[in-house]
Amino acid sequence: MKRRTFLKGAATAALTSKMLRAGEGKRIAFGGIQIECSTYSGIRTRLEDFTVKRGQELADDPFFRQLKEYPYAFHPALLATAVPGPPVEPEAYNRLKTEFLRRLADLLPLDGLYLAMHGAMYVVDMQDADGDWIAAARKAVGEGCLITASFDLHGSLSRRAIDNLDMLSAFRTAPHIDREETAKRACDMLVHCLDHRIRPTLVWSPIPVLMPGERTSTVYEPAKHLWAQLPGMNAEPGVLDASLLVGYVWADEPRATASAVLTGTKPDLLEKDALSLAQEYWDARKEFQFKVPTGSLADCIERAERLATKPVVISDSGDNPTGGGDGDRADVLAELLRQNVRDAVIAGIADPPATEACYRAGVGRSLHLKIGGALDPRASKPVEVSAKVVFLLSTDNSRERQAVVEVRGVTVVLTARRRPFHEIRDFTVLSLDPSRFKIVVVKAGYLVPEIAKIANPNLMALTDGAVNQDIEHLPKSKWRVPSYPFVPDLHWTPSTIVGARSPRHAEA
Ligand SMILES: [Zn+2]
Repeated sequence: MKRRTFLKGAATAALTSKMLRAGEGKRIAFGGIQIECSTYSGIRTRLEDFTVKRGQELADDPFFRQLKEYPYAFHPALLATAVPGPPVEPEAYNRLKTEFLRRLADLLPLDGLYLAMHGAMYVVDMQDADGDWIAAARKAVGEGCLITASFDLHGSLSRRAIDNLDMLSAFRTAPHIDREETAKRACDMLVHCLDHRIRPTLVWSPIPVLMPGERTSTVYEPAKHLWAQLPGMNAEPGVLDASLLVGYVWADEPRATASAVLTGTKPDLLEKDALSLAQEYWDARKEFQFKVPTGSLADCIERAERLATKPVVISDSGDNPTGGGDGDRADVLAELLRQNVRDAVIAGIADPPATEACYRAGVGRSLHLKIGGALDPRASKPVEVSAKVVFLLSTDNSRERQAVVEVRGVTVVLTARRRPFHEIRDFTVLSLDPSRFKIVVVKAGYLVPEIAKIANPNLMALTDGAVNQDIEHLPKSKWRVPSYPFVPDLHWTPSTIVGARSPRHAEA
């Protein structure tokens, strides 16, 4: 079948295929686990921090709507997702894995499995947790089942993951605006291989370079041109998918590296493409730099105050919960107060006790609050202030509570759980208009498009925290393989590893 036919609309393919093979169904299951964990965080991700969807609720998830367009039913198992964050408690991981495997067992026999993964999960005292999950899934579904996976481009791969998968697709954009497309590529490839009885070859080239997402955004060079070549490569006959992954720098694990991964039917071509992507990524390693102005927290606030424009969006990058930071630090509040800034909003600080205290006090009341360090008191210090409650979000769910307080001209959003402020709506539901403020502080690294649009300009404060951007000075690694920039003069030439299930591997 020609590549073009394979790529045509899934709906049309569904119709044609249904007519051709009435009664000849394939059974496919889907599910997975998605979290990115900083091993530098002193706290833990618990079971209640995951959003778990299973059965019909997972089937009805709007993200997976597109699975209904394939000629075969995709049966929901379990999908656990969490805001990036600290290492996962082993009990939580085991509970989720056990239920996932039980649900997979109930769906057997299976022809295919789609694993929707992130790829940078860390479970306390367990290396390569994603590989563990994938290997367990393989054991459950058996050798005859084809497994496809989608990964975040900040995921890391391992020999175990590659040896248990048949194919893989990773996001091609950061900020991530191609989640659905990536899932579609992963599933198109699976259905294509099932339809044509193809066992694809999976070729992996690990690249010993570790960079934060903030230096590898695909909006900027050199990432822009590196990732821009993937669709062209993907269109070559014999290539089913071409992926390039940055990996995750705040993981002290041997598998933490960048990766080039190719899936397809022509092993020599896949190897050539993987080697060329890996070499180009390596050659560009010194060009991965911050593309927005950066500075110390004090510098960024001083600079923002001097600028005539507004709102100046300051990223509190070391405590970014969407990168795996704790999101509970009050360093920026302390510095804004020290510099007597009067027109700023901080969104937000995860502080369950302070949030609860505001709800107890009520709107319009003033109270004494200790803000910051509530989740990890050892990592940062609280700021003691007199605050006035100006808004309380109305919600029945105590974990969704958010309180807006004013502290000497600084507006602070306190939240009951770790959460990002990535959309304008995150502000407006709290009766806040971010464009009104001189300084808007968000716990973020690079800005997602909606906030980037209002930033006038954006300054990235290189703050302390579990995802500190000053990666060259991260605590000494125990497990990482030698990589750039940790070993600045590292010598390296690319090589490839072929997945154990690949036909060429079996013949060798
Ligand atoms: Zn990511």
